[in-house]
Amino acid sequence: MAEKIKIIVNEDKCYLCGGCAGVCPALAIEVHSSGWEFLPDKCISCRICIDACPVGALSAEPLEVSE
Ligand code: SF4
Ligand code: SF4
Repeated sequence: MAEKIKIIVNEDKCYLCGGCAGVCPALAIEVHSSGWEFLPDKCISCRICIDACPVGALSAEPLEVSE
C-alpha cells in the first residue's frame, strides 16, 4: 500500500480557485471563500491534487500516524 500522505497548502500561492477540490476523487479537500481545508481521514494519497493546482501551491508530507 502506498505511503499515507497529508497535503499541505502554500497559502501565499493559493488563490482558492477550487481546482484541487474538484479533481480529488475522495472529496478530501474543501475550498471555501474563507480558506482551504484538507480532510486527512478521506485522503487516499493519490497525489492528483498536487499536479492539478495551476500555481503549484500543494505539496505532500508523510502523514504521522499516532499509534
Ligand atoms: S492526494 Fe488524492 S485523495 Fe488526497 S487530497 Fe489529493 S487528490 Fe484528494
Ligand atoms: S488548485 Fe491550487 S490555487 Fe486552486 S484552490 Fe487548490 S491549492 Fe488553491
